[in-house]
Amino acid sequence: MLPRRCKRQQEALIVNSCRPYRRKWTLVVALTALTLVCGCQSRLISKDQEIQLGQDAGDDFERKYGRDRDPNRSALVKSIGANIERAAEPPDYPYDFRIVASNQPNAAAFPGGRIYIFRGMIKELDGNRDQIAWILGHETAHVARQHAVRRIERQLGYDAIIALIFKKESAARIASTVGSLVLLDYGRDNEFEADRMGMLYAHNAGYDPTAAVAVLKLFQEIQRREPNDFEIMFATHPGNKDRINHARGYIEKMGWNGAYYTP
Ligand SMILES: [Zn+2]
Repeated sequence: MLPRRCKRQQEALIVNSCRPYRRKWTLVVALTALTLVCGCQSRLISKDQEIQLGQDAGDDFERKYGRDRDPNRSALVKSIGANIERAAEPPDYPYDFRIVASNQPNAAAFPGGRIYIFRGMIKELDGNRDQIAWILGHETAHVARQHAVRRIERQLGYDAIIALIFKKESAARIASTVGSLVLLDYGRDNEFEADRMGMLYAHNAGYDPTAAVAVLKLFQEIQRREPNDFEIMFATHPGNKDRINHARGYIEKMGWNGAYYTP
């Protein structure tokens, strides 16, 4: 028999451990109700909500980093982005390719189609169209393959999703949470997939897909040059060496001969 104090703790534990189940049932009931009303739920966040969420979070991200509106750079990214958008697979999203006013070499994809390339990345690539096309293709694949929205669904948790669906949660808080996730990598399988799809989109859009190998080698060079910054920006799983080997394997499988890598 447990002492009285321990029994109270045990009861408290049982009550606490039941809370997630209550939330889960609330979610199930809410989603069932939504399914009956609109017949649209196979995912937690609808496509319209995904687009709105990504745009809000993108606006928040821009307020934090600033937006680069240099006309030459903007025209370059818009024109390459438009070609990548035509090559991207369904579902169709309102893709919007923008430049962040930061000298870090980086890029990010928000759910619903807002894609950012950092000014520092364009400078590192010296405006090379094939290489920018692969970067934009990689980020576009994170949206098209719904890596971005699925991560948001996983990370926000039941409470925030319910609040989002019923518009109870502060839009600013959710936008800030989403913005803090976009610079993290997606994990091994999603990153490999985005690398492959990025090459396929670039190829189908008329660019040299072997540029992926040159960009990944550049990442290795930046890692040697600025190891601390690199840790923050490109601490990816898988590592760059694995990504280069994976990219080469895909190029060989597809039988592509390009200017940046010839099997
Ligand atoms: Zn990625």
